[in-house]
Amino acid sequence: MNTLIRNGTVVTARETKAADVRIEDGRIQEVGAGLAERPGESVIDATGMYVMPGGIDAHTHLDMPFGGTMSADDFETGTRAAAFGGTTTIVDFAIQARGTRMREALDAWWKKAEGRATIDYGLHMIVTDLGGAGLEDMDGMVDEGVASFKLFMAYPNVLMVDDATIFKALSQTAKNGALICMHAENGSVIDVLIARALAEGKTAPIYHALTRPALAEAEAVHRAIAMAEIAGVPVYIVHLTSEDALNQVREARDRGVPAFAETCPQYLLLSIDELARPGFEGAKFVFTPPLRPKEHQPKLWEGLKHDHLQVVSTDHCPFCFADQKILGKDDFTKIPNGGPGIENRLQLIYHFGVNAGKLSLNRFVEIVSTAPAQIFGLYPKKGEIAVGSDADLAIWDPNAAYTISARTHHMRVDYSMFEGFEVRGNARTVISRGETIVDGGKFLGKAGRGNYVKRAARGGAWK
Ligand SMILES: [Zn+2]
Repeated sequence: MNTLIRNGTVVTARETKAADVRIEDGRIQEVGAGLAERPGESVIDATGMYVMPGGIDAHTHLDMPFGGTMSADDFETGTRAAAFGGTTTIVDFAIQARGTRMREALDAWWKKAEGRATIDYGLHMIVTDLGGAGLEDMDGMVDEGVASFKLFMAYPNVLMVDDATIFKALSQTAKNGALICMHAENGSVIDVLIARALAEGKTAPIYHALTRPALAEAEAVHRAIAMAEIAGVPVYIVHLTSEDALNQVREARDRGVPAFAETCPQYLLLSIDELARPGFEGAKFVFTPPLRPKEHQPKLWEGLKHDHLQVVSTDHCPFCFADQKILGKDDFTKIPNGGPGIENRLQLIYHFGVNAGKLSLNRFVEIVSTAPAQIFGLYPKKGEIAVGSDADLAIWDPNAAYTISARTHHMRVDYSMFEGFEVRGNARTVISRGETIVDGGKFLGKAGRGNYVKRAARGGAWK
């Protein structure tokens, strides 16, 4: 079906202009002022609305095993919630189990998404083992459109890999053009701090944050960037949380090193105080790296504004409070690590960024859509409003008032990290490959309509 979006204001990372958008066969066919309606076209009136590229969330964990349980959203509920918030593409993480080939993980994650995803999705591969055929497997993954790999410097004995493995993986990307994403925290030091805390009987949620100091993050960021620099390749730091870590990225970028980093709404808007809530409530805010003292927040906003940070993603990894977070009632190390956020990213960054004067409208579009598309090899298919791009669009109502709450959100989780937050600005109509999947608070999409997207190696991080 062909569609004409009229009377809106088109907002991209580069410009803001009054323009209509014509969609044909799922792609953008024409952008310009005063486009004439053609027979058979459906017309969407976007008067008073921004027409922006749909959000791209480059960091989600749907249907993910962790500590004996699974993240609460699967590919259907998670992508539907994403769509409600104006996100039209996600990049989720497949996890290579130690001693197995990456191919098995890719097949397993395709199966999780098949028949369920309501929006398009790509996959990163989490590398836990480069023994045997690991380096060839990386090349094979790139051929399948898995153009990025994540390695952990934290979680010893579970996901953590040593520096030799990280350096080998980084070096391999010089050949295959993939991008290495790093979870940067010094896991060995953190494990000692955790053991000490437990020995002293410190088992409450707050100790999750107190045993993972910002310096352990900054040290690992520094080391990751240094290894990438030695290998002569770009590197991307996931979920950066602190001023200390940000300084490492900025210092490297100032020297011309292609280091990239994302942060998440929770680090911009919540602080370590949440973990000290009475009773076990703090467990709702247990994820890694942890929330920091609130002094870090303005530094992260500044980092976004000045391009020391390039992307805001969510690290969406929901666990229900009642029956999952509770596993750590007597021991904070047993609290499943993760929080829900896939639905609220654009609302929060628009309200607390654009409305608050911290970000321009174009910078907002860039950090939630265009930059992740570029960095992760989706551009210009995704993250752009231009002839030939996929018609993945959010028609954004800048005046819509919305109160975030677990009572009304669409994520399959029994609490919100942003309960009661009042925002102005929300997605009114969401279009994925030309199909209206959300309109006026109603879901019109279908499970299984989302496609796997092959991503190109040597994306924007390599330029
Ligand atoms: Zn994550």
